[in-house]
This record gives sequence, C-alpha cells and structure tokens, in this order.
Amino acid sequence: MKPPCTVIPEKPRTVIPEKPRTVIPEKPRTVIPEKPRTVIPEKARTVIPSEARDLRAHRCVKWRKHLSRPFRPRQIGVLTMNPISHWPPAPRRAVTHVLCDIDDTLTLGGRLPAAAYSAMETLTEAGLHVIPVTGRPAGWCDHIARMWPVAAVVGENGAFYFRYDGENRRMIRRYARSREARAADRRRLEEIRKRVLVEVPGCAVAADQAYREADLAIDFCEDVAPLPMDAVDRIVACFTDAGARAKISSIHVNGWFGDYDKLTMTVRLFAEVFGVTLESVRQRVVFVGDSPNDAPMFAYFPHAVGVANVKPFVERIEALPAWVTTAEGGYGFAEMAELLLAGRSET
Ligand SMILES: [Mg+2]
Repeated sequence: MKPPCTVIPEKPRTVIPEKPRTVIPEKPRTVIPEKPRTVIPEKARTVIPSEARDLRAHRCVKWRKHLSRPFRPRQIGVLTMNPISHWPPAPRRAVTHVLCDIDDTLTLGGRLPAAAYSAMETLTEAGLHVIPVTGRPAGWCDHIARMWPVAAVVGENGAFYFRYDGENRRMIRRYARSREARAADRRRLEEIRKRVLVEVPGCAVAADQAYREADLAIDFCEDVAPLPMDAVDRIVACFTDAGARAKISSIHVNGWFGDYDKLTMTVRLFAEVFGVTLESVRQRVVFVGDSPNDAPMFAYFPHAVGVANVKPFVERIEALPAWVTTAEGGYGFAEMAELLLAGRSET
C-alpha cells in the first residue's frame, strides 16, 4: 500500500510593502531680475536715415572698446574665423567691392609684393571696385588714387577719400573737415607733438608726417626701435588729454580732431561715388585687414577676411573676420582675390 502523500503547506509569501517614494519638492526657481540697461546718451548729430544703422553699429564697437579696459576677448561678430576655402561660391560671386587695409594686409614686412599689386589689377579688370582704406597720408593716397589699379582710396583714418577721374583727368578730393578746420587742427596737433616727444622717449614723428593733411602720426615701431605697450598708451593719452581721437596701428599712433573714422568716410564714399548706401550693399562688400584697429570693419562686414598674420591678435581683437587666409600680408590678399575670382566660374 502506497503511503499517503504528504502535502507540504505553501508558506505564505512575505509581501514586502512598497516603500512610499520620497517626493522631492521642486525648488522654486530664483528669478534674477533683469538689470536696467544703462542708456548712454547719444551726441546730438544729424545723420541721414540710410546711414543711421551704419553709425549705430560702429558706435557699438566704440563703446565696447571704451568699456573693455583692460582688453576683454571679442564681444561681437563671428565666434571663430573659418578658413577662407570654406567661403561658399554664391556669396563670393556676389561681391562687387573689395575694401582693404594697406599695412601688413597688402604689404608684408613693409613692402608691397608684386602678387598683391597683380591681385588688385586682376580684380579691377574683372569689374570689381578695389578701395584701400588706410591710415597712410594724403601724399601717398594721391599717388595711390592716381596710379594704382583702384577705384578710390580712403586715407588718414577717414579724414578724406581721393578718386582719380581718368576720363576727365582730374583728382577728386573729399575731406571730412573744412580747410579752415584742418588749419586750426594743425596748430593744436603741433602742441600735442611737442608734449609727446618730451613725455615718451624713444618715439618719433612718423617719417610720412610731411605728407599728411589732417592727422599727426607718432612712430613707435616703423623706423624706431619698438616701444612697450605702456609707452604707446602714454602717446595715446597725450592725444586724448587734448581732446583728440587716437588710433593705434601696427606701427603708428594716429591722432586727429573731428568725429570721423574709416567707416564714416567709407559710408560717404559709397553714397557719393557709387550712389548707394553702404548698408544696402554690405553683403556684396569684402573688407580685408590684419590687426585690432580693423575690428570695426571686421564687425561691420559679414564677409570680412583676415590675412593669416591676424591670428596672433585673436585674443586682443574685438571682432573677428569671418574668414582667414593661409598666407600672410599681400600674399594672403592675393589668395583671397584668386578665390573671389574662382567663385565666378563655379556653379
Ligand atoms: Mg594693417
């Protein structure tokens, strides 16, 4: 006989009660009240409406520079410079005007290479308008406007533009300030010259000063041994203490009286010579430069190009160009010109 099966009673399962989840209450967000903006009162000035945006943009750059002592990294414009080979063909084909700095942009080591001159000539023959925009003096600009393959030249940091009318064989000269104002400015700049030479040993009046009409150029790096930045700042202070404006280029400190600069004179040139507002053709204008004093132009033009020697200034410049060449100075300019013209045959 089979023994009866033993039924082992199932153990009651221990049900582990689910722990109640701890609900972490959401922290109330701290709302940071927006700071009231400081409104900088604008100087009373008559500006024609079409130029208003140009000048506002430029003032923005000026104020940022004013507020950034010691130098802060760039605040406006593009975030990084891209290799110029990345420049798409469509905007390249649309370019009609090429604005360019001269020192260390067309030149290299103080010389104008044949490649840069040839590039200007090729661009002009292709129907583009080449316009150097420089701090160099009226005497040089007279020669440049007359003999170089250019449409016009802006000189002495915007004190004037010169354009040679080949058909009528006459030089057209337009100044930011009247002849009388420039004569009065000359006397005030003479006082600044005396003070600078006493207070900043090692600097000198620039070798091209005799050919200037509107500004005073103090050499700290061209024909004299390079001076440290604090000496350069003292030169600038001599100008600004006397109510003048001052700009530092790679070789000179240029100072002048009057509310003008390279961009304001370029705006005027486009209105008077080409009959358009600079604002309306901004996308079809290229500016090529190399250093911090080109920052306002880099900021203004969406297709600005830096030649390769702009790279050491990346941390000190307030606005970067969109594109950068692989070659330096005039060779970089030639590289840009070749790409610009190549864009015309690409689809
Ligand atoms: Mg330069």
